[in-house]
Amino acid sequence: MAKNTADRKKWHPATLAIHGLERLPKAHHAVSTPIMHTSNYYFDTADEVEDFMRAKGQGKVIREHEYARYGNPTQQETERKLAALEGAERAVLYSSGMAAVLLAIMTFMKPKGHIIFTGDCYRQTRDFAINFLGKFGIEYSIVDPTAEAIEKAITPETNIIFTESPTNPYLRVLDIPAIVKVAKERKILTIIDATLATPYNIRPIEMGVDVVIHSATKYLGGHNDLMAGVALGSNALMTDLYKMQRMIGATPGPLTCFLLERGLKTFGMRMEQHNRAGLAVAQMLEAHPKIEKVWYPGLPSHPDYEIGKEQMQGFGSVISFLVKGGNTETRKFIDALELFLITPSLGGSESLVTQMWAMSFFDYSEEYRQNIGMVDNLVRLALGLEHEDDLIADLQQALDTI
Ligand SMILES: *Cc1c(COP(=O)(O)O)cnc(C)c1O
Repeated sequence: MAKNTADRKKWHPATLAIHGLERLPKAHHAVSTPIMHTSNYYFDTADEVEDFMRAKGQGKVIREHEYARYGNPTQQETERKLAALEGAERAVLYSSGMAAVLLAIMTFMKPKGHIIFTGDCYRQTRDFAINFLGKFGIEYSIVDPTAEAIEKAITPETNIIFTESPTNPYLRVLDIPAIVKVAKERKILTIIDATLATPYNIRPIEMGVDVVIHSATKYLGGHNDLMAGVALGSNALMTDLYKMQRMIGATPGPLTCFLLERGLKTFGMRMEQHNRAGLAVAQMLEAHPKIEKVWYPGLPSHPDYEIGKEQMQGFGSVISFLVKGGNTETRKFIDALELFLITPSLGGSESLVTQMWAMSFFDYSEEYRQNIGMVDNLVRLALGLEHEDDLIADLQQALDTI
């Protein structure tokens, strides 16, 4: 077996996603990681139990696995690869992106603390703040997705800044180094949900962010066929997160981890295609007479184009835009699409389309929807891995129908 060397850290994300930082021995020299479907792991002797427990009490690991809520070997291998890919010391995998978001907040929140969230954020994250944080006596602010607005919102009790970049659906790109600088001066923990960027397009750990979160359901899994989440950061912070994860059991099953690790093998190629198709489709839409406005950070017309150019390697395949007209025209366009499936989510092999207000914000009041920008003719595309020429042709024929 080739020796494990530190040079692996210089590998491109596409390579790290396949090999990680170390090659671990596998039963029967299998190339792929086995799916270990077991709920518990036995000991050979009664003495071994005592040795194991004593070592564990001293923080030593003399054998890896014990009980499936605490993790499984397929998960462990996938976590190692994800950590290598992100450039983080350690990854903790969860059964969903939201489990990662909530358990990260709940692990690090403090009594009477204050948490800053950025607006245009994932709806469930916002709803958790609005509906649940108060029960724990935690204050929060939801501010514009800019470094200046975040700085202004800081109070003496602020101990977490939770941001997304790019945001969803308006794809605002935050000035991460500026946020990190302000946070570090005041000893505030920074958490970023970088699901829409992935470690291919943005490198938050290298910019000093404490905790990175991804919904692995999206680009990391990449095939619209699994649900998982991941948090990444230093060993110390991830050890805290892991305590809560293993207690609650928001642990992904071994089959999910196998699918995720398998998805990672094509991560680099998939992201290249997502970035290429995203830009091509955004440019086509912006030039189209039936489109009122497009939001895509790779377009010079986007408010955060300059920050994006500096901080991102590519801009992904989520594009939001306004169709000229109202609800009727927008729905006619959506129904005329042939390649795009009407469903939320993003980052998979199939292209998806949503009319944002109806799909994700239906139960909010009209006034609140308008406030957060969920207007009738706002459409979000999440491009899949089809050829961009076919996607463009499909969008053009659908726009021709209105
Ligand atoms: C999808 C998504 C989540 C939630 O992830 P799940 O895997 O669906 O739980 C959180 N944040 C962002 C930005 C997302 O796109």
